[in-house]
Amino acid sequence: MKKNIIIIGAGLVGSLLSIYLKRRGYHVTIYERREDMRLQEMSAGRSINLALSDRGLLALEKIGLAQEIKNICIPMYGRYIHNIDNSTVTQPYGINQQHINSVSRSTLNMKLMSLAEENGVTIHFNHKCQDIDWKKNKITFETGNNQIETVYFDLLFGSDGAFAASRLAHQLQHNKFDYHQYYIDCGYKELTIPPTADGNFAMEVNALHIWPRKDYMLIALPNLDKSFTCTLFFPMEGDLSFSQLDTKEKVENFFTTNFADVIPLMPNYIDDFFNNPTSTLVTVKCFPWIREDKFALIGDAAHALVPFFGQGMNCGFEDCRVLDELIDKHQENWQLILDEFQTLRKPDADAIADLAVYNFVEMRDKTGNAKFLLQKKIETNFQLKYPNKWTPAYSLVTFSPHIRYSEALNRGQQQEAIMQEIMQLENIEEIWNSELVEQMILKKVQLLN
Ligand SMILES: Cc1cc2nc3c(=O)[nH]c(=O)nc-3n(C[C@H](O)[C@H](O)[C@H](O)COP(=O)(O)OP(=O)(O)OC[C@H]3O[C@@H](n4cnc5c(N)ncnc54)[C@H](O)[C@@H]3O)c2cc1C
Repeated sequence: MKKNIIIIGAGLVGSLLSIYLKRRGYHVTIYERREDMRLQEMSAGRSINLALSDRGLLALEKIGLAQEIKNICIPMYGRYIHNIDNSTVTQPYGINQQHINSVSRSTLNMKLMSLAEENGVTIHFNHKCQDIDWKKNKITFETGNNQIETVYFDLLFGSDGAFAASRLAHQLQHNKFDYHQYYIDCGYKELTIPPTADGNFAMEVNALHIWPRKDYMLIALPNLDKSFTCTLFFPMEGDLSFSQLDTKEKVENFFTTNFADVIPLMPNYIDDFFNNPTSTLVTVKCFPWIREDKFALIGDAAHALVPFFGQGMNCGFEDCRVLDELIDKHQENWQLILDEFQTLRKPDADAIADLAVYNFVEMRDKTGNAKFLLQKKIETNFQLKYPNKWTPAYSLVTFSPHIRYSEALNRGQQQEAIMQEIMQLENIEEIWNSELVEQMILKKVQLLN
């Protein structure tokens, strides 16, 4: 008898997980709090696009969906940096055309839900998880019209996002649950750069645009309709913060001072600024993720990340791939599968959560810093000469899906320590491309191995 599996949340991870499990012959049903987004107009300010990279693609590849999803993506080969003096710099993400992919969150989510249904998964919308009775394997949902519905499960996955109700139900009936939630003092707001009057992209399309401004930044990712979705990451409180930008004049002054080159491309930015929501950014770490052989948290419900490494969804997709491999390994013994799932994934999720916070500093501050850009150039040069000895931390995370996040963090820290020493050399600006620098790095790398 195949298990009756219930998944809470038809977001990106729940939808993908359902396809993995259904293809193994389980009875899979998803319960989703929201209405079916395929039947609705998307509201402004909720059109976030995401960067899908090799970890997410590998998880899609494993069940034959990668090409279908690549068709709705735009490749981005590097960062396109807009400095405050209006100069621009491009910085490739990797070597040999390595790239990340811009994809609309809603289009991707709708596609995954449709693929889940095509595979035989049933999705119930307007079902909000209220409570879980762990002794009776019973979940209570509130349905759209305030009715209560009860369902039973053999195996349950909580993929209901950063503020998961399933996690709360797990936590409240657990005598040793660790929970760490951390808000950075930075929120975000989305703005739009529409296509030009003649229907083209207003900027270079195959890049992730960044306007780094030290304590804050604006970024823009391309959309298939030739617009860009911009996100302003900005302090929530303080002298220069969302809380202070409360009149049209202040917003206009702020953009004129900081992002003058974008204003002509963004005719509605002031209206967008006041109409679109300001959202917060949180990291969630918790433990344990599982309960006996019958429950696991997965995706953001287990590990919410700040978005600065573009890895939250990728990490959640990787969760699905790893879980699937463990089903083979433990031949459907769910106690062993879930045990090893959290043993493997918890350190990796913690590592990418920390890396994501560090990358905020890198994106908003360092990408505008000449010394940092020189460091990246030295690293790329070295990597091109010695590809087996050096992979930059960004590439380990983004383009090396067979390397665990925890290993990427360790190797990245070791390499950063080496580069910090190199960057201290007095005349590094003159000798960065020299044999001497190359040999120094080589020697230090050999000491690591
Ligand atoms: C601004 C921003 C930019 C980002 N950029 C990137 C990026 O570039 N690359 C990347 O990989 N990641 C990115 N992320 C992270 C990514 O969005 C998340 O990691 C991803 O959405 C997690 O998927 P999930 O399915 O676990 O959770 P969610 O996508 O949050 O889905 C959870 C689902 O559960 C449902 N739900 C919630 N509560 C209940 C309930 N009580 N009962 C039933 N259903 C419920 C919700 O309605 C939702 O459908 C970004 C995040 C933000 C905020």
